[in-house]
Amino acid sequence: AVDKEKSSSVAKIKVVVRKRPLNKKELAKNEEDIIDTYSNSLTVHETKLKVDLTQYVEKHEFVFDAVLNEEVTNDEVYRETVEPIVPIIFERTKATCFAYGQTGSGKTYTMKPLPLKASRDILRLMYHTYRNQGYQLFVSFFEIYGGKLFDLLNDRKKLCMREDGKQKVCIVGLQEYRVVDVEQIKELIEKGNATRSTGTTGANEESSRSHAILQLAIKRLVDGNESKPPRPVGKLSFIDLAGSERGADTTDNDKQTRIEGAEINKSLLALKECIRALDNDQGHIPFRGSKLTEVLRDSFVGNSRTVMISCISPSSGSCEHTLNTLRYADRVK
Ligand code: ADP
Ligand code: MG
Repeated sequence: AVDKEKSSSVAKIKVVVRKRPLNKKELAKNEEDIIDTYSNSLTVHETKLKVDLTQYVEKHEFVFDAVLNEEVTNDEVYRETVEPIVPIIFERTKATCFAYGQTGSGKTYTMKPLPLKASRDILRLMYHTYRNQGYQLFVSFFEIYGGKLFDLLNDRKKLCMREDGKQKVCIVGLQEYRVVDVEQIKELIEKGNATRSTGTTGANEESSRSHAILQLAIKRLVDGNESKPPRPVGKLSFIDLAGSERGADTTDNDKQTRIEGAEINKSLLALKECIRALDNDQGHIPFRGSKLTEVLRDSFVGNSRTVMISCISPSSGSCEHTLNTLRYADRVK
């Protein structure tokens, strides 16, 4: 009964916006900070032109579960987003944390430290609160690029997805490592992130076209028996989504870029629909819309939690992308 109360006190869907500081490039171009934040709301000041070419400012106001301004640290982001859901993954909950936003808005900066902080807390629970209860922690890390899956902890080996008819998805051949301390998990995360940024066109260019998915799975020994496979208990997924502007690459001259753009567009739209369906508790959740949502299928059914961190740049030059990101987040909330 106590456990039930714990999980029901955590919101099913939480939408948070994180605004990063202006960077050197933006400052060098004299770009202005056009975002005001106040408590859990923010205002975008969009400069527009009238027909006679005089300027005016249109204000757009948004309210979210939380707005994290440029002074907020990664530690505070963790406390606001993932920390509250860590204890409930011991209660058969599946939780997913997404970072959404245009390339350069701070998704990777925001996402990278979260799995490490979460596993630190998970291991602490495993070794103290739930000590000697047979819990084990596993990590896997893969990416979806152009609709295909690659294992980031196994030299980008191509992976296939299979469905078992009982709403369970299985990624065939995905490496899953058992971790017993924070050092191990740190190494795996670094390895995966390094593997992610391979490619010919430069690190950020490549990674902006893929979704990176890091999963922490909690399992439990059956009757404390080490020789039997442990049973899955809960899962926490961290998803560094492809740059939201990439979904618009559908008219690019390069064919490969167009295909990737179309896949990204499809997956971000499908993701939005799946999260919205979650909130409505409708029976039907449209997983089949994309590879991303199919892979996450088991995280959308049953007792699940979703945290969306929408990352935005404060600069005037990013105004259009920022408004797109905020409107997307607004639809999800
Ligand atoms: P994305 O993954 O969305 O493309 P990054 O996370 O790579 O963007 O961020 C782009 C740049 O901005 C990086 O150099 C990163 O270090 C910096 N940055 C992002 N967010 C912040 C922040 N909140 N505070 C300081 N620097 C940040
Ligand atoms: Mg990135």
